Amino acid sequence: MTANGGVSFWWQQLGMPEPRTALPGDRDADVAIVGGGYTGLWAAYYLKKAQPDLRVIVLERRFAGFGASGRNGGWLTNSVTGGRARYVRTHGRDAAIAQQRALDATVDEVIAVAAAEGIDAGIVKGGELEVARTPAQLARARAFASAEQAWPDSGVELLDAAATRARIGVVGALGGTWHPHCARVNPARLVRGLAAAVERLGVVIHEDTEVLEIRPGQARTARGVVRAAHVLRATEGFTADLRGEHRTWLPMNSSLIVTEPLDDATWAEIGWEGRETLGDHAHIYMYAQRTADDRIAFGGRGVPYRYGSRVDSDGATQPRTIESLTALLRDFFPAAARAEIAHAWSGVLGVPRDWAATVGHDRTTGLGWAGGYVGTGVTATNLAGRTLADLVLGRDTAVTRLPWVGHRARRWEIEPLRWLAVNAIYAAYGAADRAEARTRRESTAPVARLADLVAGR
Ligand SMILES: Cc1cc2nc3c(=O)[nH]c(=O)nc-3n(C[C@H](O)[C@H](O)[C@H](O)COP(=O)(O)OP(=O)(O)OC[C@H]3O[C@@H](n4cnc5c(N)ncnc54)[C@H](O)[C@@H]3O)c2cc1C
Repeated sequence: MTANGGVSFWWQQLGMPEPRTALPGDRDADVAIVGGGYTGLWAAYYLKKAQPDLRVIVLERRFAGFGASGRNGGWLTNSVTGGRARYVRTHGRDAAIAQQRALDATVDEVIAVAAAEGIDAGIVKGGELEVARTPAQLARARAFASAEQAWPDSGVELLDAAATRARIGVVGALGGTWHPHCARVNPARLVRGLAAAVERLGVVIHEDTEVLEIRPGQARTARGVVRAAHVLRATEGFTADLRGEHRTWLPMNSSLIVTEPLDDATWAEIGWEGRETLGDHAHIYMYAQRTADDRIAFGGRGVPYRYGSRVDSDGATQPRTIESLTALLRDFFPAAARAEIAHAWSGVLGVPRDWAATVGHDRTTGLGWAGGYVGTGVTATNLAGRTLADLVLGRDTAVTRLPWVGHRARRWEIEPLRWLAVNAIYAAYGAADRAEARTRRESTAPVARLADLVAGR
């Protein structure tokens, strides 16, 4: 029997955390942080490290790590959400390179802090492998590799079929790309350890405390108001629920399944000894990891978006999503076909209208924000948290000068346009993947280019 929801497999395996106290009434602080995921916790961590006497309160609707931070695929990777090209246009090539280098270094920063704080998050830096299983995917892999190799230190290698399968035995792999700037993590262990680390530094986390509205100097909840010179919004995929933020970031669902631990004979067939994170060059891509206890966690898009920006509550996943992910996993790894699917779950991520992540702080109002990481926030949240800390403290540093700081995207369309657009985009990408698999042509299916246009990517 496949377990479904329960926030995530990662949390169920770890055991749900002991609840922390709710906000007991009105409070004063120097910094109020709304949202207890990686973004909010990293911001709290670096603020207290920089200035230990600062009064920092984190307000969390459910529990620290309830959101994407406790549910994700565990890719600690160096992606620049939305790509570097936009920063070349707005800030020049050097700024785009600086953004990339900062994210490369952030992968190592997270690993270093986890070690320093005694967080055992099963981290292995084995790089990121993306396989191509159709001629069109292979053509995109080649184009991707040569574009990446034009940037300094990208580390991207183009692999032929044999070199790809020598890393991970994905059936039907025609080739792939690999780069070294990525580590596998157990996401819930990371967020649990981080929450404990910030508490050791004196940060107060109040759980079961929903912020209804953010105003300059105030985070307002039904349990009381936290008055603070700085209020930081770190609510990512749940942002649409906040007053005035309904169309800021679109909540997009992503889903994962995980197998039972696989036996040695199956691993001998599959390989995957380097613990690379695994993705593909499809339009609706999959993402996977070999877990610390030798399962395959395998994710992808299910039902991408719910009408009216509704978000899920407990990670429950539609049966058809579980079926399609299971079919794809078994197609990749027939050797694992007999393994039970132990658990399925979903989460929400935040998608800005231009797909570019952002961090910022308005000195006149004291209001800050970070998010819009789409599917690549495990690393970026650390950079965002460090940047928020410097911005709040009024420090002009290398990270506060990066081109994503202060970026604002336009708002999403009103319904039903928003629902229609997202569903049309995903229907088109799905059709493109099927056409490319059927025709075995090298060129990307035209319907995918149309979807790129609608998506504004
Ligand atoms: C299924 C899935 C797989 C993913 N896989 C990867 C991956 O492999 N690699 C990668 O880089 N990224 C991945 N991501 C994205 C990544 O997990 C996120 O970008 C990252 O965790 C965002 O952290 P966050 O702290 O900004 O948001 P969250 O972790 O979502 O935290 C936001 C917190 O705010 C709280 N909150 C919301 N509203 C309120 C309110 N009004 N008042 C108080 N609290 C509130 C929520 O309860 C939540 O705890 C994935 C996301 C999902 C959903």
